[in-house]
Amino acid sequence: MQKEFVDVLVIGAGPSGCVSAAFLQQNNVKVKVVEKTHFPRLVVGESLIPRVMDHFEAAGLLDCLQAMNFEKKWGARFIRGEQICVFDFSEKFSEGWDWTWQVPRADFDNAMAQELIRKGIDLEFGSEVIAVTFEGKKSITTIKDQDGNEKEIHANFIIDSSGYGRVLPRLLDLDAPSGLSPHSSIFTHVKEANRPQGQEGTMISFDILETEVWLWVIPFSNGNTSLGVVGPTDFINSLSENQNTKEALEKAISLSDYYVNRFGGVPFLFEPVKLENYSRSVKQMYGTGYALTGNSTEFLDPVFSSGVAFATESGMLAAKLYLKETAGELVNWETEYTAYMKSGINVFTTYVKEWYTGNLQTLFFHQPENLDVKRKICAVLAGYVWDEENPFVKKHENVIKNMAYILNMEAEKQKSPD
Ligand code: FAD
Repeated sequence: MQKEFVDVLVIGAGPSGCVSAAFLQQNNVKVKVVEKTHFPRLVVGESLIPRVMDHFEAAGLLDCLQAMNFEKKWGARFIRGEQICVFDFSEKFSEGWDWTWQVPRADFDNAMAQELIRKGIDLEFGSEVIAVTFEGKKSITTIKDQDGNEKEIHANFIIDSSGYGRVLPRLLDLDAPSGLSPHSSIFTHVKEANRPQGQEGTMISFDILETEVWLWVIPFSNGNTSLGVVGPTDFINSLSENQNTKEALEKAISLSDYYVNRFGGVPFLFEPVKLENYSRSVKQMYGTGYALTGNSTEFLDPVFSSGVAFATESGMLAAKLYLKETAGELVNWETEYTAYMKSGINVFTTYVKEWYTGNLQTLFFHQPENLDVKRKICAVLAGYVWDEENPFVKKHENVIKNMAYILNMEAEKQKSPD
């Protein structure tokens, strides 16, 4: 069997794998990326948050993405009936980027992958990892191309960025149940012939249909818009009796007072895709000779668009820790990798849970707006979830619950002053 020898094997060329590989190559590591599909390929995850810009910049990927002229995302709008709450990232509490993009991921991921190739990285499309064996830190990975040819990749370290492919979690039995309740989604793209002019047309929006059910509207600079419905799996399944995804998404759009006129009856560009019970978790995020990054570790929920940001954060951190270790420094993967990633994941987990309890929605839509609270929540929504100066990060476990409780009590009192 043909053999190749590399320092680091990266599995998967999504945002996590691309950031990791680009950063390693920038630091003179011999890296190979193996990607199962051929790009461009369809993948969900189109609304980014500003924290990702730090990673693209550090990995030398910002220029190739800038050149794509993706739609600029400077904030996010949440709609509940007549109520509207707009976050502007330039008004956030923490330091950091105040804009990012909303992107058709097929083009976005392809732009990064092509840049990797341009930088001289060995990126092999159409080859799938099928087996891995470890001997201490070193590993031998068997990959198979679409003609059935197999090859061995000998590596000193593996970064598993295989997303829902979850290569090492599957092979090493690392899957763990998610702590979040089962939610599912159905999405597609539409071509907008009559997109409203100006900000209304291009603004990314989340329309709450019921406390636990929401519709996403993500307009792209190419004139297409992504539409998706998210909710408890039982609810999503109830949208169409025979589980027809087109019928289900049409039904969801019809439930949106805000968007029914804009999107009702607009033809879908592809058969809506259903992603059932999408949350994932793992027992451990690293082991001898490997680290798991991105969706290969944990995926929470799309509501705050944190997926790609965690994918690039973990991809970048795994690469940095590999470099540190090979430079002869001691790395404590438990504290420097798992604990660091978990602290950010835990903040977003609270926000996701409190979104679906309705508590966060109480804070978002409360009038008059509390601008100080809004700035602090905005920093979390921008992905700056390691800034312990922000009480909405540091005290995430209680602050939302407590504030919502007080606001709900006040509202009750106003209804019945006695
Ligand atoms: P991916 O982007 O999935 O890339 C993994 C790559 O690995 C793929 O290209 C795959 O082909 C390859 N691969 C898989 N198996 C193998 C194998 N055996 N061998 C070789 N290659 C392999 N995130 C956001 O930030 N914003 C959003 O708006 C958002 N919306 C979402 C909506 C829904 C309904 C869901 C379910 C998720 C959403 N996400 C969102 C999450 C986002 O999709 C992921 O977090 C993100 O794509 C993870 O990036 P990644 O690089 O880890 O994996």
